[in-house]
Amino acid sequence: MSAAGAPQAPSGADGGLFQKRRKIQPRFAHGRFARLRVLGVIVLLGLYYGVAWLPWEGRQAILWDLPARKFYIFGWVFWPQDFIYLAVMLIIAALSLFLFTALAGRLWCGYACPQTVWTEVFLWIERLVEGDRHRQIQRDRAPLSAGKLGVKATKHALWLIFALFTGFTFVGYFTPIRELTAALFAWQLGGWETFWILFYSLATYGNAGWLREQVCFYMCPYARFQSAMFDGDTLIVSYDGTRGEPRGGRKRGTRGNDGALGDCVSCLLCVQVCPVGIDIRDGLQYECIGCAACIDVCDTVMQRMGYAPGLIRYTTEHRLHGRPGRSLRPRLWIYAAILVAITAALVWSLAARVPLGFGVTPDRNQLFRENATGRIENVYTLQVLNMDSREHSYDITVLGLLDPALEIDGGRPRVAGGATGTFAARVHIDIDAVESRSMPITFRIHAIDDAAIAVEESSRFLGPAP
Ligand code: SF4
Ligand code: SF4
Repeated sequence: MSAAGAPQAPSGADGGLFQKRRKIQPRFAHGRFARLRVLGVIVLLGLYYGVAWLPWEGRQAILWDLPARKFYIFGWVFWPQDFIYLAVMLIIAALSLFLFTALAGRLWCGYACPQTVWTEVFLWIERLVEGDRHRQIQRDRAPLSAGKLGVKATKHALWLIFALFTGFTFVGYFTPIRELTAALFAWQLGGWETFWILFYSLATYGNAGWLREQVCFYMCPYARFQSAMFDGDTLIVSYDGTRGEPRGGRKRGTRGNDGALGDCVSCLLCVQVCPVGIDIRDGLQYECIGCAACIDVCDTVMQRMGYAPGLIRYTTEHRLHGRPGRSLRPRLWIYAAILVAITAALVWSLAARVPLGFGVTPDRNQLFRENATGRIENVYTLQVLNMDSREHSYDITVLGLLDPALEIDGGRPRVAGGATGTFAARVHIDIDAVESRSMPITFRIHAIDDAAIAVEESSRFLGPAP
C-alpha cells in the first residue's frame, strides 16, 4: 500500500501490460457481511425489476418516452428543456460516490454496483447447478462427458433466461412494460425493442457470467480513479499483519510452534472466497472490491480456533498501524458541503418549477388589420405546453394595452397532461388606443385550478401610425 493508503494497480507477472486470466471460482462465505450483500441484492434487484411495473396516475411511474421526448418520474413530467435536472442528479450521484468512497472505501463496489449485484446472482445460479467450489473445480478438470455437458448447458440456459428477463425489464423503462409484454406474447415486438432487449441481455450474460472481475480490473473507470479519494483514514478491508504473522498451520486450540506463531493459520480460505482472487494478506490491492467475504470467512476460522475475531477487518490504515485516526477530515466536509448545497438547490428548483411552457407567435402574413367593428386587430398563434401530469384549463389575459380584447378560437384553452396545444388568437383595441406602430404587450397565462401554474410571455402589437 502506498503512504496515502491507495491500492496498487495490477500488472502482468513480468511487469508487462498483459496478464493472463486465471479462472476464479469463489467459495461461498457465510456471515454478517454476506447477509448484508444478500440484502443488498434483494433490495436493489427488487427495485430494478419491480419499479418498472409500478403504475402512477394511469401510466407507468418511471418511463423514459424517447419518441415523445418526455421522462416520467412519478408525478413529474420532464421535457428536453428540463435535462438540466438530470445533469444535476448525475452530479449529485457522482459527489455521493466521492463522499462515500472517502469515508468508507469501495462500499459501492462491494455492495451496490450493478456488476457486483448481477455477478452475485450468476454465482448463486452457478452454485445451484454446479455445486460448491470444490465440485466446480473437479468438474472443470474432468474430461468432457454427457453429464458435464448437461450441467454446463443447464447453467448457461438459466443464466440466459435471467439475462433476457433483465434486458426485457431494461427496455420496459423506455417502452411501457405492459405494452411490451403484450407485444412479446403476440410476437409483435418492434425491431429496435428486440435489438435492445438482446443487446442488454447479452451484456448482462457476458459481464456477470463470463467477464466478472475483469470488468472491475480493466473496464470500470471508477476503479481507476477511486484511489485518488483514499487517504489514511478511509475505511478499508485489511489484514492485521502484526497480529497474524508469522503465519502457519497448527492444531485447533493451540498456538503452534511453542506460541511463536501469529493468529493466521494459513488456511487460505480468505483467498478462496475472494471473488477477485487476491490474497488480502499481501496488503490492500487495487483489485479488492471491499466485499468483506474474507472478513466473514476469517472470523469463522478465528472462532473455530478460539481466537478473537477481526484478524481481517474493516479499519483504516492509520488505525491498523496504531496511529490516531480522524473520521471527519476536511475533504469529507468539503464533499458533504458541496453535496448538501447542490441537493438543496435541486430540491428548491424542483419545488419552484412551473410545469407550463408558453409561446406566442405573431402572424407574419398580415401585420395588423381593421376588424368589422373598426378596431385594430393582431393575430397570434399561442402554444401551450402542459408539462404537468394532469390536464389543465387555462385563462389567458393581455397586459400593456388600453382596454384590449382577446378572442381565442375554440374558447378557453384546455391541454392534457404532458401534451402541447396550439391555439389561434386575436387581440384587438380601439383605434384611439394605438400609441405607436409597435407597442409592447404581455400575455399572461395561468391554470384555472392552480394559480401557481402561471407564466408570462412578451410580444408586440402592431398598428397604423397614430
Ligand atoms: S482466512 Fe484468516 S486465518 Fe485463514 S489464511 Fe486467511 S487470514 Fe489466515
Ligand atoms: S480481498 Fe476480501 S474484501 Fe477484497 S475483494 Fe477479496 S474477499 Fe472481498
